[in-house]
Amino acid sequence: MLRGGRNTFIIRHAIYDTSLDLENLLGDDGGRSRVNAAFFVYQRDPEGKSGVAQLLSPSSLAHCELCPRRCGANRAAGTRGVCGADATLKIARAALHFWEEPPISGERGSGTVFFSSCPLKCCYCQNHEISTGGFGIEVTPGRLVEIMLELQEQGAHNINLVTATHYAHLLPEAIRAARARGLAVPIVYNTSGYEREEAVSELGDLVDVWLVDYKYASAELGRKLSHVPDYPVVASRSLARMCAEVARRGGELVDGDGLMRRGVIVRHLVLPGHADDSRDVLDRIWRVAGDVPISVMNQYTPNARMRAVGGELARPVTDEEYELVLDHADDVGFTTMFWQEGGAVDESFTPAFDTTGVLRSANAG
Ligand code: SF4
Repeated sequence: MLRGGRNTFIIRHAIYDTSLDLENLLGDDGGRSRVNAAFFVYQRDPEGKSGVAQLLSPSSLAHCELCPRRCGANRAAGTRGVCGADATLKIARAALHFWEEPPISGERGSGTVFFSSCPLKCCYCQNHEISTGGFGIEVTPGRLVEIMLELQEQGAHNINLVTATHYAHLLPEAIRAARARGLAVPIVYNTSGYEREEAVSELGDLVDVWLVDYKYASAELGRKLSHVPDYPVVASRSLARMCAEVARRGGELVDGDGLMRRGVIVRHLVLPGHADDSRDVLDRIWRVAGDVPISVMNQYTPNARMRAVGGELARPVTDEEYELVLDHADDVGFTTMFWQEGGAVDESFTPAFDTTGVLRSANAG
């Protein structure tokens, strides 16, 4: 089943009508069987707005707490936070991308904007040039608005903001400005899952599709591999909030061409030697989000550092490991799952970070 062909996403189940309404989240027993700490937050604050200070404002950079690290760096004064970002906006690439899940990439591609730096410090990161290396070009927020419009002009089905967590303070104004100038396609927020609930809430009316990772069920694994102490708790809370925001706006919406116009897709990258944690991740996703569309990926590619260190993360995921995780997703009950066919290592998933489209349209001659 996993052999042959090029790497691509396959829809394992044809059913694609899941609805992220509140009733679905709660279940027949009012949510007691699925409830967790994250879900209580939703119940206490059903509109998701009360008591939330305006986290996403440009002034927040004077003592940055945009991401769950809340490191307090004075980015406004030029200090870099743990994420590596200061007050400047840096983008590494802005171009059509055809390797996201089918409801995101469609036939014409997703208009991806890859932001430089990242709050997580994943030792196996496949985008390390931009996440830790800081590769990218400094642009103005106004240029980000133009980039979104140019990607739409190129035919993008959506604008796919990849790891914008540490630039979230710029997004409300940029998205509103782009909308005012004719941006009509959905905004996809493509994230590691390490997000503050408050930020998700403030973006709830602006982001249409949450394309969110759920990396680890084990806090220890998060600590060891991504250098954060609290990944599972944070990821559950932010995922619950994303589902709540989509439910508040009327639930998932998929158009006649199968493109997601509103909703949540939860991604999980299976890591070599950690299939047990992957199965726990799926259990957690189910408890938090119910029958949400999931994307279980086997594209793990050991980077040079992992190859040098050796051990389990120096190899790809085996077919057997991947099958174990996929089978567990079936057992849990997910009805919409994307999975990948073919070998694990394929460079097509890692686009060239060559600043394409950052300073001007990628097809502007
Ligand atoms: S976004 Fe960066 S600077 Fe801000 S709290 Fe997170 S790590 Fe610190």
